[in-house]
Amino acid sequence: METEERRKRQAIIDICLKMNASGLNQGTSGNVSLRHGEGLLITPSGRPYESLVPEDIVYLAMDGRAEGRWKPSSEWRFHRDILAARPEAGAVLHAHPPHCTALAIMERDIPPIHYMVAVFGGDDVRCAPYATYGTEALSAHALAALEGRNACLLAHHGMIVAGRDLDHAWWLAEELEALARQYLLCLPMGEPPRLNAEQMAEVHARIAGYGRA
Ligand code: 13P
Ligand code: ZN
Repeated sequence: METEERRKRQAIIDICLKMNASGLNQGTSGNVSLRHGEGLLITPSGRPYESLVPEDIVYLAMDGRAEGRWKPSSEWRFHRDILAARPEAGAVLHAHPPHCTALAIMERDIPPIHYMVAVFGGDDVRCAPYATYGTEALSAHALAALEGRNACLLAHHGMIVAGRDLDHAWWLAEELEALARQYLLCLPMGEPPRLNAEQMAEVHARIAGYGRA
């Protein structure tokens, strides 16, 4: 295997390990993909991250054909469909972070309660309707919820972020979980006040280039 490909496979494993060590994810739920050549590299389905070596990462062609010793993540459809539909995206991360997932269970979008909502591309983060994990229906719902955005929640399931690369996806994932936590901290006091369209437009105009935005 080429050094560059091996480096990419190891980078996927490193993000998975970081995801569990940070509490962003638990167990083998969650999956990560990275654009590679004409297809993508993706985590195998249901394999414990601690045991993964570069050879365990699966190569998936855009037609869904997999090459590797394990089956690709059961969510390969939305990874493939997002990378196909969004040329600016290089990496997709899906996880079940506790705060994002609590909002997703409640089928809540995240409204413009904080200016950092803008880093996800719009004036809210949508929650996609529920569909069974691993299905084409879930992928279609996710793509619709991601329209004009780089993040969404998945009802009764978790979240997805689409980054330029793995570092950007990781940054988005951590920011999204922080935002979800902030929203949940407010909700016992009632539905929080929202920034208006004009205030959000001002943020959008200046936030490009902030941090990893
Ligand atoms: P995989 O282990 O198949 O990637 O599935 C985990 C998951 O989160 C399904 O939604
Ligand atoms: Zn999942």
